[in-house]
Amino acid sequence: MIHELIEGWDGTAVVTSHDADTGTWFFIALHDTTLGPAVGGTRMKVYDSPDDGLRDAMRLGEGMTYKWAGVGIEFGGGKGVIALSRPLSDGERAAVLKRYGMLVASLRGSFQTGQDLGTTPEDMVAIAREAKFVHGIDREAWTALDPGPYTALGVFVGIRAAVRHVFGSDDLMGKSVLIQGAGDVGAPVARHLRDAGAGVLVADIDAAREEALAQEVGGTVVDPAQVYETPCDVYAPCAIGATVNAETIPRLACRIVAGSANNQLAEAEDATRLHARGILYAPDYIINGGGAAAFGMMAHGTTDDEVLFARCRQIGEVLTEIFDEAAERDESPVHAAQRRVDRVLARAS
Ligand code: NAD
Repeated sequence: MIHELIEGWDGTAVVTSHDADTGTWFFIALHDTTLGPAVGGTRMKVYDSPDDGLRDAMRLGEGMTYKWAGVGIEFGGGKGVIALSRPLSDGERAAVLKRYGMLVASLRGSFQTGQDLGTTPEDMVAIAREAKFVHGIDREAWTALDPGPYTALGVFVGIRAAVRHVFGSDDLMGKSVLIQGAGDVGAPVARHLRDAGAGVLVADIDAAREEALAQEVGGTVVDPAQVYETPCDVYAPCAIGATVNAETIPRLACRIVAGSANNQLAEAEDATRLHARGILYAPDYIINGGGAAAFGMMAHGTTDDEVLFARCRQIGEVLTEIFDEAAERDESPVHAAQRRVDRVLARAS
């Protein structure tokens, strides 16, 4: 029940609205606004029940609190969910987005949003026509900007930091990195790696995509079903979540897991399982924060790409500190990352 979920939540507020024409619920979960206004993407999908949509908004909003504190941008955690009861026609979708945009606008900047699972760049433009506080929009051309290059740079420097920690040098010459997912982030990561002299392995369920990327970077195609047992120095999950789990961890033939995918670990114990196997894990919400950081800075008025990319590069230094602190305590980096977030939030409050 919605009221029970809200009663049991430690967040700041939940804003809800219901679109009677389509049976769609809007949930905006504002988790923690210690660092600033709540910022997080808007997810749109069909849920079995409105409760499931609200639960997702709360869980993801909390994740955004950690992400912003982890990457050091002064925003709070929040998330929007457009919980559909059924698939919509194009006309209904446009009406729902307009109405959601008006809800976001009514919050006058205390919730700011961007693209997430199930929403497209075009959807973000539609929401931005109603609400000022949508990140990653070019308001002259009315197009959505691509976060991929910023995220990819953060992942690349994160891989470099992990390699330095494990091998004692960040020279990527001769190191092998297996990229799972040759998409918006995986492809530019592969190009950075090629430029740094690394050997690139590519796996994607889209055969044409993996082939094209492997050819472009002089890499090797790996059967997507063989990813986990393929020997490599770094496994970079850049496709879907939960690929690191009790079943895949014993099969991994790498020293490092470092990639862009959200929620890479299926459950909390997987961090300990990786640590026990001597595999270094770069916490996902830190290493994949480049796009969020760049768009957040743009929302604060920064337009110079050099400054934005320099900010993404700092992710490497943040990860080095996290890896060092974790090594001192002989623990998984997820614990050091969580302590870092707690410290940032405690200092700010
Ligand atoms: P994308 O859709 O552009 O690319 C994903 C690629 O993964 C596609 O080519 C797809 O065919 C492939 N894929 C899907 N399932 C696969 C599987 N089981 N095995 C191998 N390949 C598979 O997505 P993206 O924008 O590159 O994002 C990749 C991941 O990074 C996602 O988890 C996303 O949530 C996360 N992420 C992306 C950004 C960003 O800036 N785009 C920021 C933070 C996190």
